[in-house]
Amino acid sequence: MSNKSTNIEELGEFGLIDHLTKKFSIQQKSTLLGIGDDAAVIELSHDEVQLVSTDMLVEGIHFNLMYMPLKHLGYKAVAVNVSDICAMNGIPEQITVSIGVSSKFPVEALEELYEGIHAACENYKIDLIGGDTTASFSGLIISITAIGRGKKDQITYRSGAKEYDLLCVTGDLGGAYMGLQVLEREKEVFKANPNIQPDLDGHDYIIEKQLKPEARLDFIQYLKELEIVPTSMIDVSDGLASEILHICKASKVGCHIYDEKLPIDAKTSMTAIDFNLDPTTCALNGGEDYELLFTIDQKDFDKIKGNPHVSFIGHMTNEQDGKYFIDKSGSAITLKAQGWNHFDEQ
Ligand code: ADP
Ligand code: MG
Repeated sequence: MSNKSTNIEELGEFGLIDHLTKKFSIQQKSTLLGIGDDAAVIELSHDEVQLVSTDMLVEGIHFNLMYMPLKHLGYKAVAVNVSDICAMNGIPEQITVSIGVSSKFPVEALEELYEGIHAACENYKIDLIGGDTTASFSGLIISITAIGRGKKDQITYRSGAKEYDLLCVTGDLGGAYMGLQVLEREKEVFKANPNIQPDLDGHDYIIEKQLKPEARLDFIQYLKELEIVPTSMIDVSDGLASEILHICKASKVGCHIYDEKLPIDAKTSMTAIDFNLDPTTCALNGGEDYELLFTIDQKDFDKIKGNPHVSFIGHMTNEQDGKYFIDKSGSAITLKAQGWNHFDEQ
């Protein structure tokens, strides 16, 4: 280690990962893809691959136990990993679960956490096959690795989008972020006066999006039925804008996305307006929706158009044409990722 000291913020999360891993080259023939996508891709046979993805949730960074019930946390920790396997168009099969726990947690609390993990295993039909348990001084840490499987020629990488492909997203966006805003507001009210009951009425939908997101495994199965293999895919964990830019960068394409096409639920919009936030900004930059963002070849459009789970939000262009967000007045604005962590600084 040199004496030089560089702040992590100078690199950012993705810059840091690139910086730390740039020396590593692939040494095994079976490693078809290492770092850089939602999951690594490992060859199993001539036509099948294994998918591996890890995500860690840290107390105080990813969740706050004041409003996150442990059962929900367990469920969510599994769902976000399953979501990464889905983003490769794969089927999840196993998970390992590692936890760091402080002594403030009674066994009953951990039982609740594992009830949530169990519910997710039942729902996604996956097996818990191992993990690790350690003490922690800095709150609860949960790290899950998901293992899945797919057909080699049906795996969807971030890098496969082509000019003229249609950009599609499942479900609706910005709900999980607005759910978090409501929970944060009620937490502050509670801290100021513990006798006041939280006012969560009418916010069930967005709170559930935040506390109990679902991986879109249903949609992966649906794509198979429609016989559509997206040309690229990623899950929306950090925010739509950030994920679109990941696809553009990996695929070396540009894009046009249209404000008027963004799927925003009425409850998300209403709550955003209550909070003096622009619903479009929440949809573009709020994270944790865990919907699937993907591109399809135009020839597949007829098979999927009219599907209630999918919105067509734009199309891919030549890389030199740039990456643009077209607002409701028709003006083209350069697409930027505000990112999840910087959202509050606007
Ligand atoms: P996602 O949001 O889909 O979970 P990430 O943005 O967390 O993906 O990670 C991007 C890529 O970087 C993935 O391939 C992931 O495996 C890899 N990665 C993240 N952190 C590390 C690390 N500390 N060391 C090696 N690879 C990492
Ligand atoms: Mg992902």
